[in-house]
Amino acid sequence: MLSGSTTNKVMAPGILESSSTPVIDNNRTKATVNKYGFPQDADCEEYARSLDESDPLRGFRDKFIIPSKAGLERKSLAVTPADSSASSSIPSDRDGIYLCGNSLGLQPKCTSRYIQAQLETWSSIAVAGHFTELEESPLKPWQSMADFAAEQSCRLVGALPGEVAIANTLTVNLHLLMASFYRPTGKRNKILLEWKAFPSDHYAIESQIAWHGFDPKEAMILVEPDKDHIISTEKILATIDENADDIALVLLPGVQYYSGQYLDIPRITEYAHSKGLIIGWDLAHAAGNIPMKLHDWDVDFAAWCTYKYMNAGPGAIAGLFVHEKHGKVEYPNGPDDDPVFRHRLTGWYSGDKASRFNMDNKFRPIPGAGGFQISNPSAIDLTSLCASLSVFNETSMEELRAKSLKLTAYLQWLLQKDMPSNDEGDRPFRIITPLDPSKRGAQLSLLLSPGLLEQVGEALQREGIIVDQRKPGVIRAAPVPLYNTYYDVWVFARTFKKAVGL
Ligand SMILES: *Cc1c(COP(=O)(O)O)cnc(C)c1O
Repeated sequence: MLSGSTTNKVMAPGILESSSTPVIDNNRTKATVNKYGFPQDADCEEYARSLDESDPLRGFRDKFIIPSKAGLERKSLAVTPADSSASSSIPSDRDGIYLCGNSLGLQPKCTSRYIQAQLETWSSIAVAGHFTELEESPLKPWQSMADFAAEQSCRLVGALPGEVAIANTLTVNLHLLMASFYRPTGKRNKILLEWKAFPSDHYAIESQIAWHGFDPKEAMILVEPDKDHIISTEKILATIDENADDIALVLLPGVQYYSGQYLDIPRITEYAHSKGLIIGWDLAHAAGNIPMKLHDWDVDFAAWCTYKYMNAGPGAIAGLFVHEKHGKVEYPNGPDDDPVFRHRLTGWYSGDKASRFNMDNKFRPIPGAGGFQISNPSAIDLTSLCASLSVFNETSMEELRAKSLKLTAYLQWLLQKDMPSNDEGDRPFRIITPLDPSKRGAQLSLLLSPGLLEQVGEALQREGIIVDQRKPGVIRAAPVPLYNTYYDVWVFARTFKKAVGL
């Protein structure tokens, strides 16, 4: 039991978000999250276990390798008997509690089979592996793998066929997309971004501006948060408004990595377009986390990595989206003449497969996002992504989101229970992620009172709990619906609250 007695006011179970039941002010945030009706005793282990038993996606955990507590302490690759136990969908005491899928997703069990198939293809048929599909192999021929992975990714981000390409890595793709979509002219040379963008995005934007001969100090418009780290849509729209004549590009995160805030992509995109602006989205923390409709939302371009919620492995090959309206390739003077298409940086893999090996130096881009590829992609990398996508294929982003909302709501509920409800000064931590579930993904960011980070970090480590710590004092915990359990969330909340003295 987390805590048998509580001095908090008891709130009726089952209060709905939209309920008109008057709620005591101090409990308002608790009521918001409790649309699932967690009863007052939901902070006991039995309750957490019962949520797992009734979870329709519970079988997915068994498709992943959950690091064991012993494994997490490992200093050598040599296998010991304790390491080799297979994990199962029933969490055992020996499983670590992994809440870091926002940083690096866990390894699907099928990944090693896929990679083994890849190695065997290479060792047996060598160069023929580019075009030959071996029977009994889970893999496509190497030359088809990027297209295959792109097709399978479309449903995860709400793209039409042809609007996604799989290539490179995230920051490289941001550069390549900016090479096409950031075309500064005269006074219209600025890029609007957030005040504390992920460093790689900040540097990429800064260097693009300098590359075009402009001064980043003048040309980077940073949208400031309203309070804490949360940037309201109104603030973003107002900043667009104030600078509409100078902006050449808007580039924002779908889910902000630090605060976990999910931005209103359709509304901000529509507004940017109403001012005639191009807008791109970094979906590093959104892809595989929240269902999106990039095509319907008319997003110009987007990019994401696949090693966070997409579980393709560290540094795995990344995804990019280009709206179909920007991917057109036309031959106004007949099929033998020069094509007309949106400018981008190119290589032979941007070129149509049918003529790629003609070696005639007549460039004919692949229509759609595929035309933004450049090089022959790493087949090993693609193999690992295809393995992960095969798991996503067994469910849908909608199903995952339904569990994710409840899992994160449970985490919030547990964390807020017993929280001193007087002024903020007495609280050892604050949740800086929006409390409105529609404005966040899986992650909750917990801002600790000064000086607590170290003791909390140590307490979590002792229990084999893996979360992400960002200086000066934020813990990011992301229960991932594919492999995390309500029990994981319960153990984390119990350990965390004890460590902060609640
Ligand atoms: C994780 C992350 C990156 C990482 O970029 P790489 O090119 O994959 O190293 C960049 N931007 C954001 C917002 C991220 O969350």
